[in-house]
Amino acid sequence: MNIILLGPPGAGKGTQAKFLVDEHGLTQLSTGDMLRDAKESGTEMGKRVAEVMARGELVTDEIVIGLIREKLEAGGRGFIFDGFPRTLPQADALAELLQEEGQKVDHVIELRVDDEALVQRIAGRSTCANCGEVYNDTTKPIPADGKCAKCGGTEFKRRADDNEESLRKRLMEYYKQTSPLIGYYYVKGQHEVVDGLADIESVKAAVNAKLT
Ligand code: ADP
Ligand code: ADP
Ligand code: ZN
Repeated sequence: MNIILLGPPGAGKGTQAKFLVDEHGLTQLSTGDMLRDAKESGTEMGKRVAEVMARGELVTDEIVIGLIREKLEAGGRGFIFDGFPRTLPQADALAELLQEEGQKVDHVIELRVDDEALVQRIAGRSTCANCGEVYNDTTKPIPADGKCAKCGGTEFKRRADDNEESLRKRLMEYYKQTSPLIGYYYVKGQHEVVDGLADIESVKAAVNAKLT
């Protein structure tokens, strides 16, 4: 089963992807995480994308398609695409890559939220440096003992691009470049919507309901 989670920055894609990994044994492919890893390990590509990401712009289709191609060619079944595809050329490329592996996109789930909610979600976001578990100052606080509920890690990170100015840019990029994918998958008969404004557990239940 291959699932695309679609939605603006802060919609809850990463949070729900982690549940799908735990419960369905799927592999999460987050291009945002891959790009941040490249940046942190200081590769040539990582250096090139750092500034673009900090500004909240999209990196080139060529780079992200290359990252996804590598993962798909390495084999395995059952992926959750989190933050990819984000443009129409990326969507076409994904269909082709999956076809080459004898696979297809099975579900495209849009986490629908309103823009007002995103500022608070993004401003309050942090992640466990060890396992990547996603927290929120208001809606999913780090446990009082300061340890990650999942792995016990004690170091948490905030993203350089999680500020209001970059969020505005990312939201504009979402509306200009990514939201057309809703129509694209609708026409293919694959588009499904879940209310992303509900609490985390309710969103999880609604996503699961789409997969049965
Ligand atoms: P969010 O969680 O806010 O939706 P991501 O972690 O998915 O953000 O992405 C962070 C940044 O990485 C984006 O603003 C963009 O610069 C870059 N990026 C991630 N995925 C893609 C993609 N599929 N195409 C182009 N740029 C991407
Ligand atoms: P995305 O990957 O779409 O950018 P995240 O999963 O990183 O989104 O979530 C963004 C922030 O919102 C995080 O701080 C997360 O803990 C919080 N969050 C995610 N889903 C919900 C929800 N349903 N209700 C409240 N807060 C949420
Ligand atoms: Zn952790």
